[in-house]
Amino acid sequence: MIVVLFGPPGSGKGTQAARIAALTGMVHVSTGDMLRAEVARGSDLGREAQPIMQSGALVPDELMVRIIERRLAEADAAEHGVLLDGFPRTLPQAAALDAMLTRNHQAVGRVVYLEVAEGVVRERILRRAATEGRSDDTATAFVERMRVYQRDTAPILEHYRASGVLVDQVDGSPPIDEVTEQIRALLAGPAAPDAGRAAPSSPAASTRS
Ligand code: AMP
Repeated sequence: MIVVLFGPPGSGKGTQAARIAALTGMVHVSTGDMLRAEVARGSDLGREAQPIMQSGALVPDELMVRIIERRLAEADAAEHGVLLDGFPRTLPQAAALDAMLTRNHQAVGRVVYLEVAEGVVRERILRRAATEGRSDDTATAFVERMRVYQRDTAPILEHYRASGVLVDQVDGSPPIDEVTEQIRALLAGPAAPDAGRAAPSSPAASTRS
């Protein structure tokens, strides 16, 4: 099963994906973490990505699609299922993901949308800046990341809803444990048939359009 963990910057995707992976055995695939590892290694990719990430913009789609295709081809992905954190981030990435999964007779099983108000995520990110030292956790980069999220990433939700993928909306503002429990319960609940494509009825906590 492929689950897309979706939400604005600072909504807790990374934190929640790591916790859900630990609870379920699913593989946490974070494109942001993969890129940060490349930057730390000083690879060509890292050198190309670093200034883009620092500005709050997006790394080119072709590059990201190649990275994710390689990662999803690894054995653990098929064996344990995947929690995608930070991918897809644009409609072309979502389309490329659909195409690569279709080639392997797979599909995105469901999308978990972590909803958090902009003021709350801004505060979280600036607090995280003080503790984690991420170079894109600045007030200026945050403005750009939110702009990019609204323009390029948010439309993906409609893409999934329109193609019949179950989209579960979870309030990401309560304490971390509560959010984890909500997501865990959702994933333990009924999944849609056919690897998660359109289900005849949704759980109460789910939103469909
Ligand atoms: P994240 O840790 O998911 O917030 O990602 C940090 C930064 O890495 C983003 O602001 C982008 O610059 C870059 N990045 C991560 N994932 C993607 C993606 N799927 N497409 C393009 N850029 C990405």
